[in-house]
Amino acid sequence: MDYVALAVPFFLLALFVELIYGWVVKNNTYRINDTISSLFMGSLRGTSKVLGIGFAWAVWSFVETHFALWSMDTSSVFTWVFSFVIYDLFYYLFHRYSHERQIFWASHVAHHHSEEYNLSTALRQTGTGFFIKWVFYIPLFAIGMPSEVFLSVASINLIYQFWVHTQHIPKLGWYELFFVTPSNHRVHHSQNDLYIDRNYGGVFIIWDRIFGTFQEEQDSEPCVYGIRSSINTFNPIKANLHIYSKILGEIKNAKSWKDKLYSPFARTGWEPGLPFGSTKTGSFDTQAFSKHDPEISISTKFYAFIQFLMVTVFALFFLDGGDLTYEQSVAALVLVIFTMFCITQWLDGFRILILEASRLLLVLSAGFLLLQQGEEFLSNLLFGYAFLNLLVLPFLPRSEKDGPKSSEFDGIIQEASIKNKG
Ligand SMILES: [Zn+2]
Ligand SMILES: [Zn+2]
Repeated sequence: MDYVALAVPFFLLALFVELIYGWVVKNNTYRINDTISSLFMGSLRGTSKVLGIGFAWAVWSFVETHFALWSMDTSSVFTWVFSFVIYDLFYYLFHRYSHERQIFWASHVAHHHSEEYNLSTALRQTGTGFFIKWVFYIPLFAIGMPSEVFLSVASINLIYQFWVHTQHIPKLGWYELFFVTPSNHRVHHSQNDLYIDRNYGGVFIIWDRIFGTFQEEQDSEPCVYGIRSSINTFNPIKANLHIYSKILGEIKNAKSWKDKLYSPFARTGWEPGLPFGSTKTGSFDTQAFSKHDPEISISTKFYAFIQFLMVTVFALFFLDGGDLTYEQSVAALVLVIFTMFCITQWLDGFRILILEASRLLLVLSAGFLLLQQGEEFLSNLLFGYAFLNLLVLPFLPRSEKDGPKSSEFDGIIQEASIKNKG
């Protein structure tokens, strides 16, 4: 059974408790822009469900049915304990490759963009994990792990990893020796030279100790969270796709065929022209690092937050639990992702009035389409939402001081209209 969906309300409650605790002890680890971005990425993980990508399960059940060496007894405690431990070993290998090789890093990097570290970082999951992840777990089905046991131990493993994403829990004594903890996972999320590419474990830290990838958190070296080549945006689409785009660029532009073929499997940080196995990464200057935190007005923050709440409600009620047709689900998904994109453009400090107006037009069109299909309640909801947005939009900051930048997309649209007039 997949327990993750059941755990989501507890995750959100824990986030709230951590936020309040941070305020009380005057060590708040949350920023609204970063948290919204993380939660968006958490909800994107559900997109593969909507798109119906069951490829991994098709491969796994094929292996389970035709190639399993033997069949484990699901009623035996040994099966469950063995499966839990062996799954974690394969998780370690998968996670380590997810950092060390470009094509796997492309998918996993989304979890590491945050330059803050709190429980919302745990929910920041990749939206493209379904592409490649399945390859790593084929051996588990080949040794006869039943799919229901796999699903259960995989979801318990993921749920365990939630609580370690916090700065409020110190080192935990003997527990640090065997298990993944907030302290040793803080190291995993850090860019410091001492910490980078360390502590890949999911539940047990013993794999890192055995395979030489363990590093203890040091008081003398405070963690600096995030990734080395920061993308400086809260846009979840770019966060999910930028390394794939780097790989495609390398395949296109590399001078030799060897480099083109090697690029996806190269070590993270490799570039065409460098010897195979090497990377370009230099040392990291913790003092020179500054977080991506553009200044935006309170009203824009409020607008972004309201949009975020609406998207969350919409996603929860209509995408996950609703009875939309497949076409309606895909259309809703496009609308939700476009809305996420627009909100993060506001959070990045862009004034995107043209994009925002196009988005509201799309919402209205979706409302009319639903009305034609007899979905009166849904269409009224969308009309009401678009109307409220239109009421607020004119009051968002227009002065240079409050909204200095236009989005590159608004810029492109304006440039095109000037050219057309000319
Ligand atoms: Zn990682
Ligand atoms: Zn993590």
